[in-house]
This record gives sequence, C-alpha cells and structure tokens, in this order.
Amino acid sequence: MLESATESQINYLIEKVKELGFKPYTNYSSNSMTIAITGNGNSDKLKTLSNESGVNMLVPTTHPFKLASRQNKLQTSVIDVRGVKIGGREAVVIAGPCSVESREQLLETAIAVKAAGAVMLRGGAYKPRTSPYDFQGLGIEALELLKEARQLTGLPIVTEVMSEYDVEIMSEYADMLQVGARNMQNFALLRRLAKLQTPILLKRGPSATIKEWLLAAEYLLAGGNEKVVLCERGIKGFDTELRNTLDLAAVAQARELSHLPIMVDPSHATGKRSLVASLSKAALALGADGVLVEVHPCPEFALSDGPQSLDFQGFADMMYQLTEPNRPVASPKTWMIETNIAQAIA
Ligand code: PEP
Ligand code: MN
Repeated sequence: MLESATESQINYLIEKVKELGFKPYTNYSSNSMTIAITGNGNSDKLKTLSNESGVNMLVPTTHPFKLASRQNKLQTSVIDVRGVKIGGREAVVIAGPCSVESREQLLETAIAVKAAGAVMLRGGAYKPRTSPYDFQGLGIEALELLKEARQLTGLPIVTEVMSEYDVEIMSEYADMLQVGARNMQNFALLRRLAKLQTPILLKRGPSATIKEWLLAAEYLLAGGNEKVVLCERGIKGFDTELRNTLDLAAVAQARELSHLPIMVDPSHATGKRSLVASLSKAALALGADGVLVEVHPCPEFALSDGPQSLDFQGFADMMYQLTEPNRPVASPKTWMIETNIAQAIA
C-alpha cells in the first residue's frame, strides 16, 4: 500500500480480496503496510486491484512459502515469549536438560542456567526417543515441575509437543512449544498448533531441505499462528564422528529467505559437549537470534542426551565466552555460581 493509504482504502481492499476468494494477511511496519494474499481465487480479477486507490503495487511472490518469506515482510520478526524477545537486538540463550527427570534435577538446573545468563528454560516432558525402551519422559509430572521452575526463577519455559492430542494440555503450561525435528512435517500437529497463539519453536527435520523447513513454518503462519521461531539442529550427513552435521549455511540462507527469527541447537547438532561452546559462538557470529543448549547437573547420569549436555560450570564458561568474545577462554573459576542452589529449592 502507499504510505498515504487511508484506513478505509485498506479495509476496502481487504474485503475485495476476500470476495475474489483469497485470504488477506496484513503486515504493518514503521512507515507502510502490505497485504499478503494467498489462496486460489480469481487471479485475473486480483490483478485489477493494482488500479485501486491506496495501492502502491502488486508484487507476485516467487517463493512457495509466501508468508514466511522476506518478500512478505522485510524486517525480521520479533517473537515475544513472556517478555523474552527472540529476533531482537540481543541474542537469546535457552538452556536446560534434555528431559525433565526429577524436581531436584530441574530446579537446580533452572537456577544454575539463570545465574549464568540464560533467559529461558528448556526441558522435555514427552520425549521422541529412537528406541521404545529408552526413557520416554515424565509427561504431566514434568509439566508441573516446569511450572514450578518458572515460578522459582521467572524463566519462561519451552517444551516439546509430540502429538496433536497433547496440544491442549501442554499449551496450559508452556510459554513456547517446540516441534521436534522428527515432527517437522507432522502436518496434523502443525495445523493444530496454528490455531494457538503460543509461540512455536520449529526445529528443522534431520533430512529436510530449507524449502521444506520454511514450508512447515508456512503451515503455522497460514493457519493463523504468526509466532514462529526456526531452529537449525543439525542434519543427516555421511560423517559418523558427530551425531549430525550443523548446517550453518542453512541458517544464513533461511535468514535471507525468511523474516522469521532463527535459533541454533549446537547440542543435538553435534552430540558432543566439547563442541557446544564453539558452535554457539559460530552461530551467534553468523547472526543467529540465539542458541538452545542442553545442560544437566550431572551429565554422566542423564536419562537422555548426557554426552552432549554441559554441566553447570561448562555452561557458565560457555556464557562467559559468548558475552566476552574478545577475551580468552574463561578459567573454570571465573564464573562460579554463587547462588546457593540447595537453599533456593528447599
Ligand atoms: C530435544 O530438544 O531434546 C530434541 C529431541 O530435539 P530434536 O527434535 O532436535 O532432536
Ligand atoms: Mn535432547
């Protein structure tokens, strides 16, 4: 629309678009607004709308992910998760255990990661495990513990939803819902989540192309949930040394193609705790909007993903490296956690 377009001109156009069988989505930025149009209506008639007053120009989008595309929205979207802004000027660090295992484990971790600078807490309640014999998560009990951790620390919580049947109950607890890599193309789940206003962390599938990833995001946007954050967590490659291959080029490419904020999960990307800090630094240097990192009080005893989980000191050291990029690696004592954990959770 022209900068000078009036409200009645905009409303007239929106109605007209609907009449022609399309769906309009409005985007307001600082000095102008655009109407994104999707659907399979009468496109010949649609073209005539460029003559209506208030219209600047009609631009056909070349990407199949129309709403996720930067052609639709020039500025990177900022997604607010209970006051934490993902996509803004500051990089966001989300940390916590792979799985919620016990009250003590979760609360200790929440306090430790907050003390070191994390602004959100992660923790799996329902776990997508490769083997049915592995720990599957504590379910509702874990959700209750996450709630308690939020009350204790004030950190918003993100947890994975695996099934459309769990969406209702989980959205009562979570500030952000994670769609795990294995579920990126679970379209029934995406359609259900699109009906919420809860922010979604959409992980890239292990074998998904960038286009498929953005089209999965498109399901959420087209269905009405605009609060989508992308997360690169490593893809399948031929290497056997690491769990996955972190595709940082995809982060840079998705950044160009889409206005959605993008996070990086170096824990699942590598499967190795010794590499998590380096890849977090690389992700932030590249312009990722934040990192999602697994932390456990005692990684050797973790019920899932121990080898890639940092302990508290390891996480604090990583945070030190991220916030002081021009200084050498912190000595282990530099950021000792001063909070008395036992006292805080008693
Ligand atoms: C997780 O975050 O613990 C997880 C299972 O992630 P992903 O879906 O990326 O494997
Ligand atoms: Mn995990």
